[in-house]
Amino acid sequence: MMMCSRLRPSLPRLLSLRVMGTMASRTVVVKQPDILSANLAFEDPSAFRVKSLGELLRALSIFRFCSFPVLVNNCGKLMTIARTLLGKRGFSLLLRPTVYAQFVAGENESEISQSMGKMSLLGLRPMLAVPIEEDLGESTGEKRYDDNMEAMLECVRMSHSNAWSKDPMMQLKITALLSPELCVKLTTLIAQQQYDLNLLVRAMDGEAINFPGLDESEVAHFLCGLQRLNKIAEASANKVRVLVDAEYTYMNPALSLVTMAMMKKFNKDGAWIWNTYQCYLKESRSLLLEALHLSKTEGFCLGVKLVRGAYMDKERKLAEREGRRDPIHQCWEDTNDSYNGSLDVMLEVISQKPESYRIIVASHNEESVRRAAKRMEELGIDKDGGSVCFGQLLGMCDHVSLTLAKEGYAVYKSVPYGSVDDTLPYLVRRAQENRSVLQGIRKERDLLRQELFRRLRMRGGS
Ligand SMILES: Cc1cc2nc3c(=O)[nH]c(=O)nc-3n(C[C@H](O)[C@H](O)[C@H](O)COP(=O)(O)OP(=O)(O)OC[C@H]3O[C@@H](n4cnc5c(N)ncnc54)[C@H](O)[C@@H]3O)c2cc1C
Repeated sequence: MMMCSRLRPSLPRLLSLRVMGTMASRTVVVKQPDILSANLAFEDPSAFRVKSLGELLRALSIFRFCSFPVLVNNCGKLMTIARTLLGKRGFSLLLRPTVYAQFVAGENESEISQSMGKMSLLGLRPMLAVPIEEDLGESTGEKRYDDNMEAMLECVRMSHSNAWSKDPMMQLKITALLSPELCVKLTTLIAQQQYDLNLLVRAMDGEAINFPGLDESEVAHFLCGLQRLNKIAEASANKVRVLVDAEYTYMNPALSLVTMAMMKKFNKDGAWIWNTYQCYLKESRSLLLEALHLSKTEGFCLGVKLVRGAYMDKERKLAEREGRRDPIHQCWEDTNDSYNGSLDVMLEVISQKPESYRIIVASHNEESVRRAAKRMEELGIDKDGGSVCFGQLLGMCDHVSLTLAKEGYAVYKSVPYGSVDDTLPYLVRRAQENRSVLQGIRKERDLLRQELFRRLRMRGGS
């Protein structure tokens, strides 16, 4: 097998990228960062003036519920009990106007369209996410993966054909199209031998490639999976940007390999396929630098979704059980430093070649968002030039999203959709992975309350 696409660049190369970033930052002019900090203080309740009274009350009640750790930590069990007691219909009646309405866009295209219309009026852009959850031991047959592909193609169509926003984006989970077991096996193989991206590109084009290390049925499934991914990328190229999610460390190298192959094929003239970098990982900076290097040597544009990471507890438990070194930074501060460092690296390269690199600052953290905005201003990166945008989850931290949109930044909300039953596992996982954000959402609650009191005073006065 040819091994020409090295995924790991040499150390001198990595160091030169770091130095390049520092040198570039010295030459730029600093413009009024204080005004910017004041505008992005996220303390203005008027951001919520666009919300109806019902929406204010709903958000306040749900965030109050989420402020009790015991309720968030056990929300999966609570939902199961409620569903058993109330039955499918009763449970749906309870959830639809509450949790579902807060965090999910709707079930069918007309409901989704209505939610998206409202979002566009607020200056926010949707990033649709088909909520499919799969982990080891939950693999389904080829038919199920084909059905998932159809759901993703429908997502591409909806994102493109409706004029909800300019420059539409969607999220994609590779394990919805390729079994987690195969991704784990590929991860083991990649550690021993490097795969040539061209092999994967040829397999995407339908060539019957034989991948060493995989048995016959694994090769067959890999080829089917790559062709499913190819169909989605073909349908979305030049229309919708596809942001591939990062998952667990025991499969991420395989997900990245496949994503890089998609980038090589589809990102020649623009970043249509993006990868996700989880800054809670100790190796995240070197992974990002490797990707930058690879994009240069292979000649493709790189789109980066920068996140802190969602699977901390499980990663740590697994490493402890297997006697491995913890892959996660020791504390939040270290993760934060890692996030800031990667953000700086990306903004530097974007300021030099905005047509080749793009980033979405996918975080609810006000400090990270402010830091990104400040560096953009220092480096002269256009607020809405397309190369830098921001992302938060639907229903969370609207005070951050709405303020950013009001200031003219491109802001996407990650928007799941589907039936109550289909979105439930997704909602439970999202609640648990974001419990620190949900429990620390006091500021958003205060701002919602201030807006509520302002309206009550106005009613009292009229
Ligand atoms: C649009 C969007 C897309 C996303 N896509 C993905 C994805 O593909 N893959 C994925 O994994 N996540 C994804 N996430 C979730 C994201 O990784 C975070 O879980 C979530 O956004 C919380 O981080 P924060 O920066 O918003 O908040 P913060 O409150 O600033 O940070 C919380 C995060 O810090 C880290 N952390 C907390 N405590 C510690 C500690 N003791 N030690 C080390 N680190 C710690 C954890 O990552 C935790 O989630 C996405 C989020 C958004 C908004």
